[in-house]
Amino acid sequence: MAKLIEPLDSFRKHEARLAKEQRKLSLKTRFSNNWVKQKIKVNRVHEKIANVRHDFLHKHSTKISQNHAVVAVEDLQVSKMTRSAKGTIEEPGRHVAAKSGLNKAILDQGWGMFRILVEYKQVWRGGAVMAVAPQYTSQRCAECDHVSPENRPSQAVFSCVACGHRDHADVNAARNILAAGLAESLNACGPERSSGIPRL
Ligand SMILES: [Zn+2]
Repeated sequence: MAKLIEPLDSFRKHEARLAKEQRKLSLKTRFSNNWVKQKIKVNRVHEKIANVRHDFLHKHSTKISQNHAVVAVEDLQVSKMTRSAKGTIEEPGRHVAAKSGLNKAILDQGWGMFRILVEYKQVWRGGAVMAVAPQYTSQRCAECDHVSPENRPSQAVFSCVACGHRDHADVNAARNILAAGLAESLNACGPERSSGIPRL
């Protein structure tokens, strides 16, 4: 069951406002009285955007952490899987979610912060965050495992050329990320600790 977090409309509005105020600033003589006044306006919009982002990230990281013992994230920085949260994982497989569909426009700048917040909250609750290598998560079919760039006819749509499975591209990728994260978490905590690399 996939749940997408809706985009934050007010964020776009503030961004448009910021662009407008910055344009005005660029037309003024640097360090003139009018320039200083305009600069203050620009800074206020920056501050507003930071507040909106901060609230959004806190609200959603709290919600995710409250409802899931294991959270899987795509790790764009490292290529190997790492386990970033210690502690017990209660009932792995029952309360799990892959994050997906977070408003990219917001998280382009907030993603690092979002991940830190989720990890912090998970550690605090005794949960875990599994970081998953990003390879093929967007090209792999979550139903049949077939990997192909042709499975992505467009940015938004996943359509498997092998089995015909169709889904929101982010949802399909999230399912792959979740499966890989769960495999890694079972590998790290399960009774039969194997040395094998978890199947993606
Ligand atoms: Zn398929």
